[in-house]
Amino acid sequence: MTAQIVGHWINGKVVAGGGAHQAIRNPATGAEVGKVALADASVIEAAVAAATAASAVWADTPLPRRVQVLYKFRELIIQNMDKIAELITEQHGKTLDDARGEINRGLEAVEVACSVPASIKGEMTAQTGPNIDTYSVLHPIGVCLGITPFNFPVMIPLGMLSIAIAAGNAFILKPSEQDPGPALLIARLAQQAGLPDGVLNVVNGGRDTVEALIDHPEVGAVSFVGSTPAAHAVYMRGAAAGKRVQALGGAKNHMVVMPDANLDSAADALSSAAFGSAGQRCMAITTAVAVGPIADQLVAKVAERTRAVKIGRGTDEGVEMGPLINGSSQNRVRGLIRSAREAGATVVIDRSEEDVAGCPAGYFVGPTLVDGVTTEMDIYQQEVFGPVLIVLRVNSLDEAVEIIKRNKYGNGAAIFTRDGNAARIFQRYVPAGQIGINVPIPVPVASYAFAGWKASAFGDNGIHNGAWRFYTRPKHVTARWSEPPVGVDLGFRPN
Ligand code: NAD
Repeated sequence: MTAQIVGHWINGKVVAGGGAHQAIRNPATGAEVGKVALADASVIEAAVAAATAASAVWADTPLPRRVQVLYKFRELIIQNMDKIAELITEQHGKTLDDARGEINRGLEAVEVACSVPASIKGEMTAQTGPNIDTYSVLHPIGVCLGITPFNFPVMIPLGMLSIAIAAGNAFILKPSEQDPGPALLIARLAQQAGLPDGVLNVVNGGRDTVEALIDHPEVGAVSFVGSTPAAHAVYMRGAAAGKRVQALGGAKNHMVVMPDANLDSAADALSSAAFGSAGQRCMAITTAVAVGPIADQLVAKVAERTRAVKIGRGTDEGVEMGPLINGSSQNRVRGLIRSAREAGATVVIDRSEEDVAGCPAGYFVGPTLVDGVTTEMDIYQQEVFGPVLIVLRVNSLDEAVEIIKRNKYGNGAAIFTRDGNAARIFQRYVPAGQIGINVPIPVPVASYAFAGWKASAFGDNGIHNGAWRFYTRPKHVTARWSEPPVGVDLGFRPN
């Protein structure tokens, strides 16, 4: 059941705070299902104070104990999978199946976090000088902040907080104010798993809350995932305050289909990757680039699949695609489809205004296929973040690669081909952080890092396995234990 008010989670307790509230809506019905408390200054202060105090104790907690907590946390998430998935579906709108998928991908990060004893090893070199050894130790940062988007209310928080906490930090999570419920549930499970109070805190709010948290002197590191303008603003603000920041932004992911590709596989992949989660995935394929003479055939195959997608409430049996997150997303996506038509594109399948039985006020936009798009059109230039697949037609792989190079984003890109050389050229020359070869959504397993290039990410390292360095800082120790005393020497000698 959804709590009426989603409060903050500070020092192991729900805190109501004295700030304002914002409605949380079920996107399938438009009905209010709760309210989220927005942090005021006292909530922010209390969260940072709790995290600061807990971080000192947690940093000294032996690694095996941290790992036990993470194992238990994983087990509790699995035991509560259905409950978490229902909450995601209620506040986000995605299907229950998709919600379970996101939890499972989030669990991968918890599993990687369990490898902390092997992952934060330092280095040591003996005899770097006479009887001198040099070694490095990775220390936690202290208090780390994570700001997450609405589209993965569990997977992305788990991706950040599992590694940060495993590395010995305390964490403050600021989830999306649009679907904040699952974050609190996750925090409760962490407590049940034995995580000491104050190590994980959840503070709700919007931009003001984010800015106040970034500015707080006790916050040492900031991880952000969301839209590019917000990612850039967070990166600049954090960096200006001398903090380490990783800020992942928006995307425009292309999938190139070569003339030799298996067109049925390519059409399946395009439809799944464009319409899954109603296109609200940062790794969704939004842009098909058809190379050579296969374009008509490919578009016909995708059209057939676009017609067949079953839309509705994410809780209903057989539904494949739910609504968008809110009314303004619905208007934006419909507006971009209209603008493409006006600019001369062909809207091959338009289900954007389709009614869903029993959900007259839901924020649905049905799957839509737009052919004949050019790179000047708004629907190509902007991140649509909805279930719209656009098709660009080109004559060669070189032309396809040039288009992707010119795009401002660089999150993911895929190629479908049977030609190994084409695949190799693609993976080598396309500027994106994640490349798929006959895989449309190439999110790597969590034992690799995840981060985009260009306007899709600011800062280094990436999340998941790339985050060990982000959530620690090295200390280099030079030690000599030899006798006798070496005597006073004011020079600056070589070792
Ligand atoms: P959003 O940028 O509106 O919000 C993300 C988070 O930032 C929320 O917690 C929000 O409260 C906060 N926020 C919003 N504006 C802010 C500002 N100006 N300054 C500071 N904080 C701010 O994003 P969203 O609509 O929740 O999520 C969708 C976006 O996230 C899409 O652009 C999508 O591509 C992107 N995304 C990227 C990745 C990735 O890995 N690159 C993953 C998921 C989503």
